[in-house]
Amino acid sequence: MFVDSHTHLCYPDFAEELPQIIERAQAAKVTQIVSIATDLEAARKTLEIAQRFESVYAAVGLHPGEVPTVSLCDMKELAQLASEPKVVAIGETGLDYYREAKDDAALRQQQKDLFWAQLELAKERKLPVVIHNRAAEADILEILGAHAESLPKDWRPWGVMHCFSGDEKFAFDCIELGLLISYTGILTFKNATALRDVAKKVSLDYVMLETDAPYLAPVPHRGKRNESSYVPLIAEVLARVKGVSVEEVAQATTANAIRLFRLP
Ligand SMILES: [Zn+2]
Ligand SMILES: [Zn+2]
Repeated sequence: MFVDSHTHLCYPDFAEELPQIIERAQAAKVTQIVSIATDLEAARKTLEIAQRFESVYAAVGLHPGEVPTVSLCDMKELAQLASEPKVVAIGETGLDYYREAKDDAALRQQQKDLFWAQLELAKERKLPVVIHNRAAEADILEILGAHAESLPKDWRPWGVMHCFSGDEKFAFDCIELGLLISYTGILTFKNATALRDVAKKVSLDYVMLETDAPYLAPVPHRGKRNESSYVPLIAEVLARVKGVSVEEVAQATTANAIRLFRLP
């Protein structure tokens, strides 16, 4: 049994065949799916999908890459959506300095403000946080470190660094703060030797699996549309890297997802 801890079922890529996507996931033993929003409209749609399909849960959040289209003004409605029973997390939220924000201090500040606001919302609602980082390690660790200080020490894990592709130090810094890390299909890519080396060193106690579909399809589907039924392909590579059985990977990563998101 597997959990896809991060996919985007509300994206138009899936619109025509959601029931089939979920059926294929079930057939591949991916029994629970956490679907993630990146803006308000996506949050509304994601919640609808989660209400329609029993095995789907929703995370509602504002993605840093959507700034300035999304802003602190959206927080009021986000807070309302966060109260819905099928919402299991706030996210994805975080920092993304890969494109526009790279050389734009004002934009970076807006991202930080939006990130802080969502961390606060998550704390208030006692929901875990799905964190997105791209090219912003130093700033994100500074913010997460300050935030972690304000949380009860027994609330662990309280979030996930999703689509983990950083180095060993970043992985252990995240874990030290009380986060899980989660691997996408990147782990299966031929050129991802460095990431597999990190995965070898990180205990399965701190790890989840995700597709981040429709993106990042694992080998042998690389470059095509991704979907939740491909989670076992990532698990197989992780099992090989760790020298354990696929069942062991399935068990550990599923238990971590259930604990983090408080899934039934
Ligand atoms: Zn992301
Ligand atoms: Zn995502």
